[in-house]
Amino acid sequence: NEPVLEIKGLDVDYGVGAEAVHAVQDVHLTLHRGEVLGLAGESGSGKSTLAYGLTRLLPPPGVIRGGEVIYHPDDGEPYDVLQLTPKQLRDFRWAETSIVFQGAMNSLNPVHKVSTQLMDVIKAHDPRSTRASRLARARELLRLVGIAADRLDAYPHQLSGGMRQRVMIAMALALEPRVVIMDEPTTALDVVMQRQILAQLVELRERLGFSVLFITHDLSLLVEFSDRIAIMYGGRIVEQARGVDLYRDALHPYSDGLLHSFPALRGPRRELTGIPGSPPDQRSLPLGCAFAPRCPHAFEPCAGHVPVLGAPADRDDTTRTVACWLHPAEDDATATLSLS
Ligand code: ATP
Ligand code: MG
Repeated sequence: NEPVLEIKGLDVDYGVGAEAVHAVQDVHLTLHRGEVLGLAGESGSGKSTLAYGLTRLLPPPGVIRGGEVIYHPDDGEPYDVLQLTPKQLRDFRWAETSIVFQGAMNSLNPVHKVSTQLMDVIKAHDPRSTRASRLARARELLRLVGIAADRLDAYPHQLSGGMRQRVMIAMALALEPRVVIMDEPTTALDVVMQRQILAQLVELRERLGFSVLFITHDLSLLVEFSDRIAIMYGGRIVEQARGVDLYRDALHPYSDGLLHSFPALRGPRRELTGIPGSPPDQRSLPLGCAFAPRCPHAFEPCAGHVPVLGAPADRDDTTRTVACWLHPAEDDATATLSLS
């Protein structure tokens, strides 16, 4: 259970001053070697901001306010991604950690063949490679993601959405990164296609040994495919557990709401409407738990104090953490008592 990426106390804002949006707040999250970690939460909860922040791809006016992102390479000492120079960062991306953006399948260049685009990624990091070796590698990568060699010369518009998504995955894998981040790559695709692509990624992970951070709204997909799941709300991680544990026994009322606002695994897809109320305004966050105003179980401490993410004292399980006053950690339990 060695860590490959450790996010420690990450804070990300959009803008500065009173109007700043606190999109990611004090996030602690660890990705272990070879695991699939799912990240779920409603629209606006900060999932993409977390992914862009940790890879230093935040668009302006995004600013990292604090924290560390410790990367553990296969060989060599761990280092903080937030401290890398622009040159080091270019080497880090694709080769150590690659990211497939939200809506990435539409970001392929329409005027170039998919093989050319794949070969360009390889060339950028290995300028001395021969054209023949790049072509062979592009063919191999496409085969890996289930695209026949006769599609090498296709242009993006000649491929289906699912195939374009596979090309994006092939690109992300081109330099054999240790970490692959997928930001909702499947939103625009139908349910069957989504499952196929995620299943394929999980299988590739087993073969190639990389770790995956998979971001989606669709918790049912994560329950099926990820080892662990982290739930985000209002810029914070509110619960983190093994997929099976979360499914059987979600501790945070928000996780519970998310789970029950989705239909059965293979049922029809619909928008998240199960939790009444709307997400918090991240410019002026409430003093206490951001979910309290929508929470059916809120009681006295919830509105006044932000619960700390920790191992719940009422479960004998060190693999899970939750930030909820209903399930305080050992040391927080005393804090609750002293409040009442
Ligand atoms: P979705 O599921 O819709 O992709 P998300 O969980 O990825 O949502 P983010 O896109 O990270 O959420 O947004 C987090 C918060 O930051 C939201 O309140 C959003 O309005 C805000 N935000 C995102 N991008 C910007 C921006 N460029 N400028 C200002 N605020 C932004
Ligand atoms: Mg997003």
